[in-house]
Amino acid sequence: MPTFADAGRAIEQNLKALRKPGVLAVRPGYHTEAGWPVGDPVVVALVGAKKGEAASYGLPSQVGGVPVEVREASPLERLKATQPAVHAELRERTRSEQHTPEFPFEHVFAAPPQAAAAPTRGPAKPQLPYRPAAPPLDPMTETLTVICAASPDAGWPLLRDFFGRIQQKLVVGMYDFTSAHVLAGLESALSGGTGTRDLSLVLDHPTRDPTADQSDGESEQDLSGKLGDALSFAWAPVRSSPEVREWIFPSAYHIKVAVRDSAELWLSSGNWNNSNQPEDAPVSDPDPAHAAETFEKNDRDWHVVIAHPRLAQLYEAYLLNDRETAIQAQGQAMEMAELEALAEQTFDLAELNPAAVARPPRQVFGPVTVTEPMTVQPLLTPDLAPDRGGMYAEMMQGLISGAQHSLYIQLQYIHPTNQAEDTAFTALLDAVAVRAAAGVDVRIILSQWQNSEWMERLQAAGIDTGLVRIQQGVHNKGFVVDHQRVVVSSQNWSGAGVLQNRDAGLIIDNPTIARYFEGIFLHDWDNVAVGRGGRLGVTARDAAVAQIYGWEDDPGESVPALVPPELRAVPDLTLAPLQLAIPGIAAPAARGYAPGTAEFRYWSAAEAAARGAAFWRQLLPTDTTWQVGDTLDLLLDEGEDFNAYYNRRALNFFHGTAGGRTVYSGESPDIVCHEQGHAILDALRPELFDAGTIEGAAFHESFGDMSALLAALQLPSIRTAMIADTAGDLSRSSRLSRLAEQLAWAIRQIAPDAVDPDCLRNAANSFFYTNPESLPSRAPAVSLSSEPHAFSRVFTGAFLEALAGGFRLASTNPGEADLQVVSQNLARLLIAGILAAPIVPEYMSQVAAAIVAADAGADGAARGKYGDVLKSAFVRHGILSPQSAAGIATFRAAGVSAAARAVGIAAELGRELPHIALSASEYGLGDRPLLVRAPSDPRRFAVSAAAFGVGSVTPSNAEHAARAFVEDLLQRGNIDIGGAGEPRMRVVHPHTFKTHRLVPGAEGLMLTRILFDCGFRAIS
Ligand SMILES: [Zn+2]
Repeated sequence: MPTFADAGRAIEQNLKALRKPGVLAVRPGYHTEAGWPVGDPVVVALVGAKKGEAASYGLPSQVGGVPVEVREASPLERLKATQPAVHAELRERTRSEQHTPEFPFEHVFAAPPQAAAAPTRGPAKPQLPYRPAAPPLDPMTETLTVICAASPDAGWPLLRDFFGRIQQKLVVGMYDFTSAHVLAGLESALSGGTGTRDLSLVLDHPTRDPTADQSDGESEQDLSGKLGDALSFAWAPVRSSPEVREWIFPSAYHIKVAVRDSAELWLSSGNWNNSNQPEDAPVSDPDPAHAAETFEKNDRDWHVVIAHPRLAQLYEAYLLNDRETAIQAQGQAMEMAELEALAEQTFDLAELNPAAVARPPRQVFGPVTVTEPMTVQPLLTPDLAPDRGGMYAEMMQGLISGAQHSLYIQLQYIHPTNQAEDTAFTALLDAVAVRAAAGVDVRIILSQWQNSEWMERLQAAGIDTGLVRIQQGVHNKGFVVDHQRVVVSSQNWSGAGVLQNRDAGLIIDNPTIARYFEGIFLHDWDNVAVGRGGRLGVTARDAAVAQIYGWEDDPGESVPALVPPELRAVPDLTLAPLQLAIPGIAAPAARGYAPGTAEFRYWSAAEAAARGAAFWRQLLPTDTTWQVGDTLDLLLDEGEDFNAYYNRRALNFFHGTAGGRTVYSGESPDIVCHEQGHAILDALRPELFDAGTIEGAAFHESFGDMSALLAALQLPSIRTAMIADTAGDLSRSSRLSRLAEQLAWAIRQIAPDAVDPDCLRNAANSFFYTNPESLPSRAPAVSLSSEPHAFSRVFTGAFLEALAGGFRLASTNPGEADLQVVSQNLARLLIAGILAAPIVPEYMSQVAAAIVAADAGADGAARGKYGDVLKSAFVRHGILSPQSAAGIATFRAAGVSAAARAVGIAAELGRELPHIALSASEYGLGDRPLLVRAPSDPRRFAVSAAAFGVGSVTPSNAEHAARAFVEDLLQRGNIDIGGAGEPRMRVVHPHTFKTHRLVPGAEGLMLTRILFDCGFRAIS
């Protein structure tokens, strides 16, 4: 396996064989795919228009065991090979991000044409020695107030407000100042009110930024005209600047610092140009689509504002010193229109990384103000450390080498060099490589300017480019280490940026501030940056984070999921009552694992179940326990099936493969909370488990779906997202209303009509109640059938509408906090209704009436609060007839206060419904009676469901309901009939899933439920 150096040696030893007509240059490199180096090193032969592979140029296919790859040179590589003098001039004048890399062992073969001379260059500019200002750059440890913000989200509002606090003067060092709104904002802050405040400004003069409103020169002219003597100005002494005769800084006066009134410091990675400080800050944009557009078109930068006189005066002293030094260098040195024009064109010539695509943000970050003890280390380049290596390089070396858990780096680019004078920069790259090799979670985000040649160069420098993601519009130069220390700075990672240009930054040692910027970094990593092979989405997090990942709701059918998982607190399954356990698997160490791993699924299921239990725990009567005992087990992977079920022993989950993908039902919070809902309802009304009633079974399914919906609403992120997605109308179809999208996708691969087109079931539906005894036992998902999951949708649909209506009632402009309150209030009414409702054939209308009655009987201001929305929802779905709904007010008068009733009913829990005997011989099941627990409670509420047409459904009797229930089960083949009956007479469905079995007893065959199944089994 050849190394990069082997490829270099192979070039040195075979120069003659490689020097062929048409070959412009050779260098070691890597084969690249979509912007990333892949595989072992190769020898790259650069040509003009590529006419074929190595043989076409008379090149060997390999030298010294290293393959030779012919590649068409980029426009700048061609210029470098054919017009080296022009290229060198251009390199001097253009912005560093547009440069081409230099590779070790690189050989240019193209003979420079005689005629092409470099643009005329003036006499060499003399260099001035850099003399630092007096104050030492020592760390400060004390309680500071720091305002943190990011661009494009909130950069300009932060700067505008900072300008607004200027009382006497502002001292600035700036690379690029070409934004009209920043200029206008500064001018009005300096000249508004009484008198003019002073401005000291040292400004560089880079080539024109494509987003510029005016040139740097025009900004200076305008300030000079507006401020007169109040402006003290100097052009920065930069070698390439056309405005100075002498130089200190080779390629840029790259600092972005402003000091107000010797008291407050603004320090940033961003300039005062439009792409770094867009005027329509997304954080205050009322139009989310426009905010996303602003984000996509502008740059990521980090900023801090610190009100601290000593720190402010430290930077001020350096900026004023820069101005004093620069004054002697003022005076136009060069008139090079031709070069300037060429330099501006380089913006279009420079190659970009093909992976860079603008993506909308998932979240917009507002500023935060932190007042806490912290240590702040000022960073200034080129200030010299005792070893003359530069204090930035020395401090960063210590910071990076000290990383124990995580090292997150976001830079516009990384440009490794071959220069001996840049060894302190090369040492930083080595330190990053060492930390990555030591197992530290190293992540690097670079911008589109890190094109594939620079990625090859980075790989050659020892940085694994597999750790790199490309993000369009990154201008930031930020670092977060171990969730504790953060660097906000202007230093780019090139030799000049790290060691020679004027740049400024801060290392802030404070976990609150570090976490703020880390959150923004991880947002970018997960949502807008692209990794090798087009990889997007979330990857595993550092082990030191005592947090785990949970989905917001079902992950859905996309891979990666459209909505990435969130970091959440580690769930505690041992809380009582309603304890949970995941037996047989040791809990993985609590950290954020990548989706698709068993560890991720473990925590996803645990978090969802713990969240559901926490929700119900606060609402259920005290001492409510699982039917199975104190602890309910979650069995996360019980084998292959598109299913999940509750069987009075545990919640059981499975995996199944379809369409080339394996889905795990236990990974979906929707399914986990649905199954848990069965267990909750079983704890509340155990008689329902075995009740021979279609509506009772369907209500069990509906309660599972309502549980999933209510548990999801306990997450602030989904409340906010759902209000936005539905424009405040939660009854619309949404991620919230759609249940188990991922499992449904898998099922659709096998049985397209078995489930909805976009989910397993949708709570946003218009299904209207029909007596299930009159419905077919199976039907496609679009139709209602008596199958419990299908029929459940009638009640769930009404519940979602009641929730949506209750939310709208909360205030004129209800927010996410209102949504949580409504979810809890309606769940409380649901529990009260379930406890009060008798188990009768038309169970749903009894529960509905009991809920309305519970609301009417609530205490104080809550009394009757949701009456109208509840009645409206139940009537719209036919669960209550209009006549019944109108009469419900009388329940309270009749003394059926649900709140009081709940206590009485709770006392009756544990009783069994009576068996009734049906004829088993009718079904070929032998001569002994078939015993079914009949829904035979006395009716408590004189209500009924609506019939199609006019009037109400006539209540059916318990025996008829039980018979319908049994026939349904038999038609679907859900009963394990064991050895009952005559083989010739009975109907056996050998391949269908069994939810019930016949248990022989003294009186006959008892129909006994095994489980509530919730998935799908293809009938073979
Ligand atoms: Zn279910």
